[in-house]
Amino acid sequence: MPLPFAFRAAILPLLLASTFSVSADPLPPSLDQPYPGTIQMKVDASDTARNIFRIRQSIPVKAGKLTLLYPQWVTAQHGPTGALHQLAGLKVTGNGRAVPWQRDPLNVFAFRVDVPKDVQMLEVEYQHLSPTESSQGRIAMTPDILGIQWQSMTMYPAGYNTRRIPVHTTLTLPAGWQYGTALETVQRRGDEIEFKTTDLETFIDSPLFAGRHFKRFDLDPGGKIPVRLNIVADSAEALEAKPEQVELHRALVQQAYKLFNSQHYTHYDFLFALSDEFGGVGREHHQSSENGVKSNYFTEWAKTEAVRTLLPHEFTHSWNGKFRRPKGQDVPNFNTPLDNSLLWVYEGQTQYWGQVLASRSGLVKLASVRDMIAATAATYSNVQGRSWRPVIDTTNDPIITQRRPQVWPNWQRSEDYYSEGALIWLDVDTKIRELSGDKRSLDDFARGFFGVDNGVNVAKHYTFDDVVKALHAVQPFDWAPFLKKRIEETGPAPLDGLARAGWKLAYTDAQTEFLKGVEEQSKTANFQFSLGFSVGSDGKIAAIVWDGPGFKAGLSGNTTLVAVNGRAYKAEHLRAAVTAAKLDPKPIELLVKHGNLYRTVALDYHEGLKYPRLERIKGTPDRLEAILQPLK
Ligand SMILES: [Zn+2]
Repeated sequence: MPLPFAFRAAILPLLLASTFSVSADPLPPSLDQPYPGTIQMKVDASDTARNIFRIRQSIPVKAGKLTLLYPQWVTAQHGPTGALHQLAGLKVTGNGRAVPWQRDPLNVFAFRVDVPKDVQMLEVEYQHLSPTESSQGRIAMTPDILGIQWQSMTMYPAGYNTRRIPVHTTLTLPAGWQYGTALETVQRRGDEIEFKTTDLETFIDSPLFAGRHFKRFDLDPGGKIPVRLNIVADSAEALEAKPEQVELHRALVQQAYKLFNSQHYTHYDFLFALSDEFGGVGREHHQSSENGVKSNYFTEWAKTEAVRTLLPHEFTHSWNGKFRRPKGQDVPNFNTPLDNSLLWVYEGQTQYWGQVLASRSGLVKLASVRDMIAATAATYSNVQGRSWRPVIDTTNDPIITQRRPQVWPNWQRSEDYYSEGALIWLDVDTKIRELSGDKRSLDDFARGFFGVDNGVNVAKHYTFDDVVKALHAVQPFDWAPFLKKRIEETGPAPLDGLARAGWKLAYTDAQTEFLKGVEEQSKTANFQFSLGFSVGSDGKIAAIVWDGPGFKAGLSGNTTLVAVNGRAYKAEHLRAAVTAAKLDPKPIELLVKHGNLYRTVALDYHEGLKYPRLERIKGTPDRLEAILQPLK
């Protein structure tokens, strides 16, 4: 909004003066020096009626200019998604007197204060307003469960490497609740928990789940390094894991150890929420992970296979992403931009090991993992955006899109480095197997790359060249161009690995049992590979394939499918119409509601239903079977 001229003339010099004073005062660089003193944190997380977290920090300071930072870059989200919009009530005092703060207009995550001469300790108070409705963000507090991500509840002084800032925390929980975290507890007095002093980086990397209903399972009985499954749930019944289910999670730990041949933590805590209220989550940390799925995880075991790759994925991150970390993620604090260009290793290979370990541990059936790979291969073959955008460019999506809904995701692409990355690592794995006469594999890379410095939990950074070197050590080959072609160039989906594994992608008119189950769970009818869109249970058309039959017929977002060939829409009617159109030259007629406009759309499509599955290539070795078998 432009200011009226006279007014502008009067205040412009003032505006310029304040702008200049800020831009002349850049953030102090983060130095690798110890912070003088320990930040004392008090977090009150007991207000489950209103989802308000109340924070009080005592920060030792010296007189003069000080910048307090609120974390902007969330490492496990790969983007600048700090919850600044949920911070309120900021009040700074020293010796009982108010100390004014001013937000830096060029960096809204930075707060400037002038510490008075006689003040050695600043008291900083504010609230973190956790969403009360999912339209405001992920629900992290319910009447039964809460999740704490400390980066949303911490301010810290600029000028110091966060590894050098000590933090001592006390947390107040709702009465009687229990909790899990990788933080070490000093003592619990009633509902107040005191944690051992740690550095700010470790603190923020150690979230906490607490709940009214809580259960902890030892996932490595007799092991020297504890691995615990800390479960919170909507109800006591949802916690009831059967012994054979727990055994599969124990097998995951053992299979990971056989693969990586090392541990880079002193203890590991899975934080696991089983809830229909608490927002779904999967976030990696060095000594723990945040995992959230629906409440039926254990109780309807036959229906939850598809989400059982989550824990294997997040556990893998302790090695890939946290211990071995791309050089561009080596940042001194939480307000330094992350370079995401190696996320196809960090996330892509983790996605691969997540599925492989899910199969090897028995958490997911081998045949189901094969179906997952079929779905991935089909999905990425069908992504039209690959004609203009190489997969490496999608590593910028956590910064560009920040997981907001996209208008045409099939054309825009979205964080494809995860699953397409997994296809590329299958490509690498089978290439090593082929070249070595099946004597070596990506397992050897895992041991060589992640299995070094056993027991060390300080991050070890790597570059693209380090990855190439480690692959070369396993199997001499020209790996750099092999990888670059798949990562940096546009072109067809990387399915060579599938062929080398002895399988090919095929489409049939019947779904595999596993993918049918996934479709039913998602409450979405999948016509992606035939009509080029999906239909929600409410008839809403989604995920339209760019240049697909639906797109060509003029379908777009905000469209509801009302009728198919004159009959009210039901998924089975549309499936029947697609099948009938194979023998009928007439187009399939859809009545759709686009905004408040009704219109008829003719789909001239006659190729029948198409669902992906993998088929064996006769006379070739089944390397997929070999990859997915448990290690002895
Ligand atoms: Zn991940």
